[in-house]
Amino acid sequence: MTPIERLQTALNGLGLKAVEARLESLLEEASKKEPSYADFLDELLSCEVDARRSRYLRARLQLAHLPFLKNFDQFDFGFQPSIDERQIQELRSLRFIHEASNVVLLGPPGVGKTHLSVALAEAAIQSGFGAYFMTAHDLVTDLGRAYREGRLDRRMRVYLAPKVLIIDEMGYLPLDDMGATIFFQLVSARYERGSIILTSNKSYGDWGSIFGDPIIATAILDRLLHHSTTINIRGESYRLKDRRKAGLFPRADQDSGRAAPFLSPDSLQNGPRRPGSAAPRKTSAPLTAPGRSTD
Ligand code: ADP
Ligand code: MG
Repeated sequence: MTPIERLQTALNGLGLKAVEARLESLLEEASKKEPSYADFLDELLSCEVDARRSRYLRARLQLAHLPFLKNFDQFDFGFQPSIDERQIQELRSLRFIHEASNVVLLGPPGVGKTHLSVALAEAAIQSGFGAYFMTAHDLVTDLGRAYREGRLDRRMRVYLAPKVLIIDEMGYLPLDDMGATIFFQLVSARYERGSIILTSNKSYGDWGSIFGDPIIATAILDRLLHHSTTINIRGESYRLKDRRKAGLFPRADQDSGRAAPFLSPDSLQNGPRRPGSAAPRKTSAPLTAPGRSTD
């Protein structure tokens, strides 16, 4: 065995794959540049550390279930002047995660709520925080099933563990009694422990209609908003901008004279409605929520 072959076997055995892959070029470079022993070792190990870090980040990104990968650089703030960029800069510092504070992005469809929440999640993951993305509908369906199967506590841990939980599209579909109660429990359990980034097409005043009950809506908002930042986006849908340019749609502010249309909640019921989604489900054990009888 040549020394190189011996090295390769050893690196492989130790699982130092990145160094193994670059061994020949690292040695060749070193013979040209003649770095100090310390610099050479530093370069060798940095190569492995960098590779591990990107593997780790890739795994974390996959675990986060993001619907797409977009960052802040891909967001055209010029298109959305209602967004206060200083507020975004502050969020990008990720202080809100350290403080277990929440972020709520409100606005009509297509204005970039999901894009910005994904960008925040990506930044959080890059800084070593765990993040998990779920639509409100899938989250409540999943926890509702766990509840009926008597494993709610265990399942809830999946949504309590990550430092950042992104709940997308709150309000597109109304929640039934159990959904609202489960949502309340989740928000209460994360309160002051982990951040929630939530997007909604409904302004806070309309949240009673999401939960079908103003008392529970108030209790949820109370906990959600106690430590929070609200980004209220009032503008055009980015998805429609090219079609508007082609004259297929009038500008949204042309007939109302307002620059910032916030469509009425009823006009935004744009998802397929689940059969029986608003009907209270039969439950096998009591769930507790404010204003709800548990018997
Ligand atoms: P929302 O969640 O508010 O409905 P999305 O975040 O899904 O909107 O945005 C719709 C699409 O338009 C996405 O592909 C998103 O990346 C893009 N988009 C929205 N706003 C902007 C923007 N200001 N700059 C660049 N892309 C944008
Ligand atoms: Mg969205």
